[in-house]
Amino acid sequence: MSRGGGYRIVLTADRTLMSEYHGGIFLGFSACVPKGLIPDWVYFSVFCPPVKAGPDGSAEAAPYGTRKIEAALLKYGFRRDEVIVAHPEHLDRVIGPETRVLGITENDPLGIGPATSTFTSLLGGEAYMAVKFRELLNHPSVRRYRPRIIVGGPGAWQLVGEPQRRLGIDCVVLGEGERVVGPLFEKAIRGEPLPSVVHGEPVPVEEIPIIRGATIDGLVEIARGCGRGCRFCEPTLQRYRALPIPHILKEVEVNVRHGRRNPLLHAEDVLRYGAKKPWEVDVEAVVNLFKAVKSVPGVDGVGLSHFALASVASAPEAVEGISKVEGIGESDRFLSGQTGIETGSPRLMRRLMAGKCLPFKPEDWPDVVERAFGILEENGWIPVSTLIVGLPGETEEDVCLTIDLVERLRTYRSLIVPLFLVSMGGLKDKTRSFTYEDLTQRHSELILKCWRHNLDWAPSLIETWSRQCIKNGMARRGIKLVFSYGIRVTKRLLEECAENYGYDIKAMRENYQRRGLGSRLIQALRVVAP
Ligand code: SF4
Repeated sequence: MSRGGGYRIVLTADRTLMSEYHGGIFLGFSACVPKGLIPDWVYFSVFCPPVKAGPDGSAEAAPYGTRKIEAALLKYGFRRDEVIVAHPEHLDRVIGPETRVLGITENDPLGIGPATSTFTSLLGGEAYMAVKFRELLNHPSVRRYRPRIIVGGPGAWQLVGEPQRRLGIDCVVLGEGERVVGPLFEKAIRGEPLPSVVHGEPVPVEEIPIIRGATIDGLVEIARGCGRGCRFCEPTLQRYRALPIPHILKEVEVNVRHGRRNPLLHAEDVLRYGAKKPWEVDVEAVVNLFKAVKSVPGVDGVGLSHFALASVASAPEAVEGISKVEGIGESDRFLSGQTGIETGSPRLMRRLMAGKCLPFKPEDWPDVVERAFGILEENGWIPVSTLIVGLPGETEEDVCLTIDLVERLRTYRSLIVPLFLVSMGGLKDKTRSFTYEDLTQRHSELILKCWRHNLDWAPSLIETWSRQCIKNGMARRGIKLVFSYGIRVTKRLLEECAENYGYDIKAMRENYQRRGLGSRLIQALRVVAP
């Protein structure tokens, strides 16, 4: 159908989610930093280049969640020519008078997720994700043809209530979407009233459809849920389900057909693939999975999204086995993934995240983290780890214990990203989010020591990663240039804050503002935000 009239159902995501970030897990964080740190054209051409668009306005690759919704709608009975996964920069080619529904996938539509709120609290301004989400809603074609707007994805919770009314969003889908989107989109097409919020329950494995098109960075889901039971976790993550290998391989093949030859396996903890209990690792199952994916014709290498440090420490053979399958150590190739340290305080681990330590005890957590970092380093893995600042009930002593742990990790090649607590998931309505006003001198010390750790490792990480991932020589040189300037400036600022202000970010910022140097500080920081 052309598309003068538009597609009946248009699925898309904001522009920051429609980039493969040169395959760099590190660069994905850049969408959380405020607009204006560097010129937009540099950011969107060098750091966050768009996926390709087809002549019909389709996106060559899309977020995994968008692809699942596309597959679920086709399985429900909508025709192929009714549904398009569209490029956000070409909505004028796909939205027209026949368009009835615009379905949007969002990770952080208001820019209040943990990473975004941390960066914007410290640096001011509004995150690209929020800016680009609003741009989608205000696109001239959306305003002109007024399709019903349905938003889902990990950040959809932010919209419930006042934001939804203010932004003119017809329905927000929370949780897993596959079972609910068919009837919901049908109602929307018929012009029937829509519930303002729909809750999607965990979907049984046999009902999860296979994706029909390429995903960003070739991401393929291997399991859903977690089951470790942390108090601040999303309820939908409580039920663990592993997808069977044939299902996973079909999705890998879809991606390979579209040129994604390095599939990225996704789960809350990839190492626990196929395990029976939340604290076990089935070494054979996970290594066999990597072998099976690696043997798909056309696959060059296999990556992973997330893993748990407790799994690494309890089953180093799984890490060794995967590295062997991937040939890590035979070249300068490395594996990387996101993981959670969260705190160095055994007391807080026991209170809030006892399941995260299993099979170890909360008292052993700092040792477990260091042992895991050692195992990862020996096997050529680079952890991109997070810490949570402002956990409920946190005392100065807890922050000091976390600082001690960061110092113990100094010699391990890694990134440590401190994030402000956001009251969401299991903590929503039970505690309030941490803000800049809550920042104590000890918190500042922790944040600056994490940044110091990252800056010490950044040159070697950027070198290795850019050689492995960025094929375009000009983009590689551009990114390295911006980073090396940023690293130099930030190191100077960190030294000044440590030596002259005793690590007190607030005192330094206030003094700069009093002396009329605010803009210098902000400008310097604005160049260097990760
Ligand atoms: S380990 Fe992570 S995913 Fe699992 S329950 Fe805890 S916070 Fe949730």
